[in-house]
Amino acid sequence: MIQDLLNTPIEFLKGVGPKRADLLKKDAGIFVFSDLLEFFPFRYVDRSKFYTASQIEADMPYVQLRGFIKGMELHGVPRTTRITATFLDSTGRIQLVWFNGLRWIKNAFDPKVEYIVFGKPSLFNNKINIVHPEIEPVTPGALNQQSAMQAVYNSSEKLKQQGLDSRGISKLLRVLLPQISEVIPETLPDRLLQGMRLPARKLAFQHIHFPSSTDELNKVVLRFKFEELFYLQLSLLRYKLVRSEKSGGFVFASLGDFFNGFYHNHLPFQLTDAQKRVLREIRRDTLSGKQMNRLLQGDVGSGKTVVALLSMLMALDNGFQACFMAPTEILAVQHQRSLERMLAPLQASIGLLTGSTTARQRKEMLHNLKQGALRIIIGTHALIEDGVEFHKLGLVVIDEQHRFGVAQRAALWTKGKVPPHILVMTATPIPRTLAMTIYGDLDVSVINELPPGRKPIKTMLMNDSSRLRLFAFMREQIALGRQVYVVYPLINESEALDLKDLTDGYESIVREFPLPQYAVSIVHGKMKPTDKDYEMQRFVQGQTQIMVATTVIEVGIDVPNASIMVIESAERFGLSQLHQLRGRVGRGGDQSYCILMSSHKLTNDGRKRLDAMVRTNDGFEIAETDLQLRGPGDLQGTQQSGILELKIANLAKDEQIIKIARDRAREILEQDPELKNAENQIAANRMKALFKDKLFWSQIS
Ligand code: ADP
Ligand code: MG
Repeated sequence: MIQDLLNTPIEFLKGVGPKRADLLKKDAGIFVFSDLLEFFPFRYVDRSKFYTASQIEADMPYVQLRGFIKGMELHGVPRTTRITATFLDSTGRIQLVWFNGLRWIKNAFDPKVEYIVFGKPSLFNNKINIVHPEIEPVTPGALNQQSAMQAVYNSSEKLKQQGLDSRGISKLLRVLLPQISEVIPETLPDRLLQGMRLPARKLAFQHIHFPSSTDELNKVVLRFKFEELFYLQLSLLRYKLVRSEKSGGFVFASLGDFFNGFYHNHLPFQLTDAQKRVLREIRRDTLSGKQMNRLLQGDVGSGKTVVALLSMLMALDNGFQACFMAPTEILAVQHQRSLERMLAPLQASIGLLTGSTTARQRKEMLHNLKQGALRIIIGTHALIEDGVEFHKLGLVVIDEQHRFGVAQRAALWTKGKVPPHILVMTATPIPRTLAMTIYGDLDVSVINELPPGRKPIKTMLMNDSSRLRLFAFMREQIALGRQVYVVYPLINESEALDLKDLTDGYESIVREFPLPQYAVSIVHGKMKPTDKDYEMQRFVQGQTQIMVATTVIEVGIDVPNASIMVIESAERFGLSQLHQLRGRVGRGGDQSYCILMSSHKLTNDGRKRLDAMVRTNDGFEIAETDLQLRGPGDLQGTQQSGILELKIANLAKDEQIIKIARDRAREILEQDPELKNAENQIAANRMKALFKDKLFWSQIS
């Protein structure tokens, strides 16, 4: 009965006809009463306050004005048309602009009527304007309804045309709330509500849509944020629990000739304390009898590869095979070569499987893999294609995880009955709040220490007017025997323009650094893999001093002798990408430099990103800044993660709440892993309702 009322199709709400219902479904995802109830405002404004035209500045948040609308004008050629109008009051005028819904707007306003105009000021052609304002005539009723904290809802142009702008949606909620408030169920266990002094859900909906004080609002916002994060954490932790209970794990009982032989006789350096700690964590996991699912975070150059290698040797010592997956062909090749070099004395054969492996090689390799003759295989995602079968796969290492999604990880697990241990490694530091959510079902290890003797990279910001100085500096460093990267943005590898920048840049470098004294390599995504590889190798072996490249060199490439990283149009890169690129230098004992070339015109965000790069070398600080600047949705590797479609919580801002939510969820699962106790019934039901149609969660049942 209760569910029935909340699940009533939205067209049955008074004030919503078939046409509006259609749009609410299409544009706002509102199908039934409860969807509207949970359509949270995205901000609140003081609608009792009016500004005058002369007070408006371009960077103000939402403002409200009272005055007249005149001079509607249609501009532009088809496809880029817009309508402008002039808003005026006794103090001045402001331009109003519309880009869509032009036909409807054109005759919508009467020049003799006074209107309330509401919207966000912005700057265009150096003039202040308001794009797509909300407008309604001044009437006593309209003025009475103005509250000091009115909810603002996202709305689409089409909804607005149907009168469902923010104000219209608010009106619907005013109709809906009294009808259903009696049947709104509580969705948090009583103990949590009491313990955290959170308002009941019924009240919370009333207050979030129609708050009467900031205090009241803060309380209900906290409740909804907590609730959202709590169920996210509960499901992640529950998933982790189920997985570790269900799937046993291989036991790597002893260490033998592979591990010990390498560790004691062939390790080219002393491990750092952090590397040793992580190895102990992996050792513990692989002894536990449960499947390891571990995320290894370590800044660029922190030495993750050798940790991966030693872990693979643990597997080999116990009769298992290991596989190492890299995001690109170049990296796979590089890993294969360096591991083969390190393992040469141990006589462990290492296979390499990528897109350019010939059919014959592939066939032979797959045969050996299935027979167990091949113990270690390195490759790209070619490794998870059909036909790749292992004799006894014990460990999978995934380098630079952010390019592999959860689905791909899952594909690996399902190959054998007992899933292999999984170690995912990333050099893209993830702010802790994100790690707790996106990777909330993994255990996390961190290498928070660089190998000794590294000098911090010096980062400088330059622009075109200092190019001659840059060239002189490059010459100086090359004379000292160093090598230089010059990287161009190529956001989309098919963009002809970017490619032209790169080849122009290459040509000017070749002019400045001519043969026979200098040699320059070039690598970009449009080249054949064999050509790329050839050029890479020339640089790796020191036959060329300069590598002009696109971001294909972004991850993992290791050339200790390279000490200068020049990044062209640096403002076009994301922060974590810049940090990745910078990590390509500073790998040997020499002082290294990162030079960010930027254009003169920088956006605010662009400036902040580059400043952050100059300010710090700390990957976690960079990641945190990136999160604050861009929000979680745009961070590398998070796009595919549906987990981030949060309704109200904000991973960039709500770290504290995330922690509390995770702790509470853990406490509950420790006492009642199956959520069977009466007091947890509410939570159990809510989990089912929330995650019933997510494939990712389907293993829970
Ligand atoms: P990343 O964590 O970025 O993958 P790598 O594994 O490529 O880093 O290591 C970077 C460089 O540091 C390599 O040249 C590697 O040989 C070296 N290295 C790794 N660990 C140590 C260590 N403990 N002492 C000295 N050098 C090390
Ligand atoms: Mg690496």
